[in-house]
Amino acid sequence: MTTRTYQEMDALRTATINLHKAKPGLRGKVDAMCCECIYDPGSGGGTWREQVEACTSPECPLYEVRPRSKPHD
Ligand code: SF4
Repeated sequence: MTTRTYQEMDALRTATINLHKAKPGLRGKVDAMCCECIYDPGSGGGTWREQVEACTSPECPLYEVRPRSKPHD
């Protein structure tokens, strides 16, 4: 098992945010915002998308449009 340093995890998080932020349109911006909000590569909580899917803040204005692997209800 490979152990990442804090700096490597922070760089991965920043790269993931920037990747989505650079996409045209609102989809990438929403994805980037959710990553910025919740994604922690060192948490053991899964991929950025899995962590966003597991968001427990339905009061957030982005909650209904947050990225999910399955279609929205
Ligand atoms: S939907 Fe959840 S992960 Fe996305 S910005 Fe809101 S609180 Fe953060």
